Amino acid sequence: MAPLRKPGEAVEAEGSAGRRGSLGVEVMLSPDPAAPAPLCPHGPTLLFVKVNQGREETRRFYACSACRDRKDCNFFQWEDEKLSGARLAAREAHNQRCQPPLTRMQCVERYLKFIELPLSQRKFCQRCQQLLLPDDWGEHCEHQVLGDISVTQLKRPSQLLYPLENKKTYAQYLFADRSCRFFVDLLSSLGFRRVLCVGTPRLHELIRLKASDDKKSNIKSILLDIDFRYSQFYMEDSFCHYNMFNHHFFDGKAALEECRAFLQEDEGEGVIMVTDPPFGGLVEPLAITFKKLIALWKEGQSQDDSHKELPIFWIFPYFFESRIRQFFPSFCMLDYQVDYDNHALYKHGKTGRKQSPVRIFTNIPPNKIILPTEEGYRFCPLCQRYVSLENQHCEHCDSCTSKDGRKWNHCFLCKKCVKPSWIHCSICNHCAVPDHSCEGPKDGCFICGELDHKRTTCPNISLSKRANNTLFFRAVRKQKQRKSNKMKLETTKGQSMNHTSVTRKKKRRERAHQ
Ligand code: SAH
Ligand code: ZN
Ligand code: ZN
Ligand code: ZN
Ligand code: ZN
Repeated sequence: MAPLRKPGEAVEAEGSAGRRGSLGVEVMLSPDPAAPAPLCPHGPTLLFVKVNQGREETRRFYACSACRDRKDCNFFQWEDEKLSGARLAAREAHNQRCQPPLTRMQCVERYLKFIELPLSQRKFCQRCQQLLLPDDWGEHCEHQVLGDISVTQLKRPSQLLYPLENKKTYAQYLFADRSCRFFVDLLSSLGFRRVLCVGTPRLHELIRLKASDDKKSNIKSILLDIDFRYSQFYMEDSFCHYNMFNHHFFDGKAALEECRAFLQEDEGEGVIMVTDPPFGGLVEPLAITFKKLIALWKEGQSQDDSHKELPIFWIFPYFFESRIRQFFPSFCMLDYQVDYDNHALYKHGKTGRKQSPVRIFTNIPPNKIILPTEEGYRFCPLCQRYVSLENQHCEHCDSCTSKDGRKWNHCFLCKKCVKPSWIHCSICNHCAVPDHSCEGPKDGCFICGELDHKRTTCPNISLSKRANNTLFFRAVRKQKQRKSNKMKLETTKGQSMNHTSVTRKKKRRERAHQ
């Protein structure tokens, strides 16, 4: 990563974001199995600790796993706080009230009624983001209502629903058509028959669309997503309302069983998990969740398959490579650049490609994954994988070293390839952006500022604590959070989603990655 940066930026560059409006960073702690976390409307909360002015505060607290904005879920509880019975009851009632107004079963019943209606009676309220039955019309007569909802529209809910783009909280980024098609073709050419889509609604619908158009490609798909609006369009076996930061199924055991059955069908043969989580989310809880899904799949394996791994595509920005590999050492990062529809920065523009930083992390051998030559990829026989055209094989590193799609240069002093804009600095003793300040805040420890170690190995925090700590921490911005999205729906309230916010943070990150 960038060798020279301010402490705050170091964390930003890891894709974290502010929360809870105070200075310092927050560390997520590994949960103690003996002390179950309290519940918020989004399932079990996570344990955090604040770090202020380089010092870790002693008091730890529970906060929502999914919502990064207190406006969306204001759950807060000190770890050692004892709640009265009355407060616990009030919390329980609050959690109940925050659940979607319709049960999963009611949604399915409504859907079945809806598809029986003649075209002229099939309406969709754009304000409420809801399919309407004739009984509902009165309630929505003042709202913007779309009529004549066709079967085709019903099959493409990600086009009917508006993406929840609110940066801080929702920021739903849907695949551009060509990336989505690339995935569907790839999955079918790799021979998968079932896809567990975790936070990939558009991929889910395209797989189903293709399966219904073309009987040969009969891939099944199930979607796990926190966006409850999707439950209007799918039966129980193809959508679960789910929180991927704590592996919480909002509809309880029945939903978990759907997921289990899906993973374990055919003794777990032919299934892959594809996930595109919010980039601002914490890597560690995601990794913990994915390991739980892997375990669920493994349960269904016969004994002699026990060495096998569940195939996974984890879609995430390239600068998370080391974080992901910490949890999944067998994963490698592909050069393919994933493009999004509604993301100004990651979109393939008319004026040529704006390079997307989003990549695929996978445990499938990369030589099996053919990247399209017409989009500028080639096969490197030495690396045995497809790479960007500009990513040249470095004979000194013996690898195609570029991470960002540009040609990197080998530095003989650093003994590695570096970004094209970097030059070797003899004061700092490594490569850096030309305008860095040599004596500026260095890439050192967050706790004590020393340069020879990172926060996680800091001798100034007690060993016991460190053993407990996880590596990920978040920068906390002082900046007041933006007004929450006015369009926020009652039914989707409190959902969280945050791909990297586009503006400030993105700019900062781009600077860090120049
Ligand atoms: N590119 C994907 C969408 C990725 S956007 C596609 O086109 O299919 C991230 C997705 O994760 C969104 O659908 C969002 O609703 C979902 N999401 C956000 N937070 C989540 C959480 N805590 N648990 C489960 N899903 C979540
Ligand atoms: Zn309405
Ligand atoms: Zn190579
Ligand atoms: Zn090199
Ligand atoms: Zn150098």
